[in-house]
Amino acid sequence: MFQKILIANRGEIALRVLRAAKELGIKTVVVHSTADADAMHVRLADESVCIGPPPVRDSYLNIHQIVAACEITGADAVHPGYGFLSENAKFADILAAHNITFIGPSGDHIRIMGDKIEAKRTAKRLGIPVVPGSDGAVSDPVEARRIAGEIGYPVIIKASAGGGGRGMKVARTEEDLIEALQTASTEAGAAFGNDEVYIEKYLEKPRHIEVQVFGDGFGNAIHLGERDCSLQRRHQKVWEEAFSPALNAEERARIGATCSKAIADLGYSGAGTIEFLYENGEFYFIEMNTRLQVEHPVTEAITGIDLVHEQIRVASGGGLSVRQEDVRFHGHAIECRINAEDPRTFAPSPGTITHFHTPGGLGVRVDSGVYSGYKIPPYYDSLIGKLIVHGRNRVECMMRLRRALDEFVVDGINTTLPLFRDLINNPDIANGDYDIHWLEKYLAKGVEEQH
Ligand code: ADP
Repeated sequence: MFQKILIANRGEIALRVLRAAKELGIKTVVVHSTADADAMHVRLADESVCIGPPPVRDSYLNIHQIVAACEITGADAVHPGYGFLSENAKFADILAAHNITFIGPSGDHIRIMGDKIEAKRTAKRLGIPVVPGSDGAVSDPVEARRIAGEIGYPVIIKASAGGGGRGMKVARTEEDLIEALQTASTEAGAAFGNDEVYIEKYLEKPRHIEVQVFGDGFGNAIHLGERDCSLQRRHQKVWEEAFSPALNAEERARIGATCSKAIADLGYSGAGTIEFLYENGEFYFIEMNTRLQVEHPVTEAITGIDLVHEQIRVASGGGLSVRQEDVRFHGHAIECRINAEDPRTFAPSPGTITHFHTPGGLGVRVDSGVYSGYKIPPYYDSLIGKLIVHGRNRVECMMRLRRALDEFVVDGINTTLPLFRDLINNPDIANGDYDIHWLEKYLAKGVEEQH
C-alpha cells in the first residue's frame, strides 16, 4: 500500500479523496494555488505545497510543479480527482516515468478514450452498443451526404477531440449538413487544435444514463449499476440519481454485464464511467470517462462501497475488495450539485459565505469544502458542494431530499439551492419523467413567465 498520496485537485473532491486516504491510514499531501491557501483540504492535509498563482495553467495544470511537489514530499502516488489532469495521458506517463503511481488507468487507456473516434471504435469492438454513424472522421461533403442519407436525418456532427459539450452541430436536412460540417470542423480546430469531426444519428429525446465500472488491472471487472444524469443545463449535470427511473431490472443487468465484460476484456484498471444516451429501450455509447465522476456518491449510497478506497486499492495492485456477485444495491439516491451561481441566470457568485449550515440526519450526506467565513475565489468552477440523499425507495428519497433542502443554509452568496427546492415540487421530477432537454425547457419557461 502507498505511504503518502498527493492530491492534485481542489475543492470538495480534494477533501473527498483526503478522507478516503486518512481512513486507509495513508499520509496526505495537497498542492494548492495561492488562492486556495485557506481551503479546508489544505487545513486537514498532513502536508501542503503551494504550487503557483491562481490561474490553473500555472498551478493545478502545472505538471512540473506537481511532480516536483511529489519529489519534495516523498509522495508515492497521485490522486487527480476529476477535471484538471485527471484525463491527461501525458501526466499519467510522466508520473510513471518518475516511479510515482497515478491513481487511475494507464496512459494508453486514457488516450484511447480521450479521442472520441478511437473510443467509439474501441467500444464497438468490445460489444458496447454505439450511436449509428460514420466509421471515423469525415471531411468530404459527398461522403458526409452519403452517410447522413444512410443513417437518416437529423444527424449531429461532433469533434473527435471534443469535450464539455463543445464543437457539436445538429443538421436536420441535407441543406444544413455541409454548413454544419464546416462550422463544426472550424470550431473544433480553434477550440481543440484538431479539426477532425464525425457524424452520428441525432437522438431527439434521449436520457443520459451512465454505468459505473471498475477494472482490477488483472483482466477482471465489475459494474456498480447506473446513474441517470439527464437533468442538465448546457451539458452540465445538475441532478443525478441511481437507479435511473427509466430502467427495469432486466435492462440494468444486461447493460451492466455488457460494460463489465468490455472493461475486463480491455484489461482496464481503476474507476471508469461508460456514458450512454438511452432512447426507446436502446443504449447508445457516447463516451467513456477514465476517472472518478462528480456524481460518484450516488453509487456509493446505493452500494455502500467507497469508490475512492477501491481506486486506491486497485492502483496499489491490491485488486478490488468486492466481486460482482457480492455487490448489493439498496434503495435510491439523488445528488444535487450546489453551485455558487444565481439560480435564475446562472451567473457565477463568488464572495464570502457569511453562514454555512448543512443538513444532517439519516440518509443525508454533504460533500463540500466550504465553511462559514470562507471566501470563494473567482478563478475556478462554481461547484461548492453536493447534497446526496438516500432512501429505501425513490419516494422516501424525495421526501428526505425536500427536508434536507429546507435545512440547508448558505448566506452571503447566491446558490442554486432554490432551483432544487422548485424541482422537488415538479410532477415530472416526482414521476422521474424527464429527458436531457427537460431542464433547459423548464428554465426557459421560467424566464418567459417573468417577462
Ligand atoms: P462531450 O465530451 O463534449 O461532453 P458527449 O459526446 O458526451 O460530448 O456529448 C455531450 C452531450 O451532447 C450529450 O450528453 C447529449 O446531450 C448531446 N449529444 C451527443 N451526441 C448526441 C447524439 N448522437 N444525439 C443527441 N444528442 C447528443
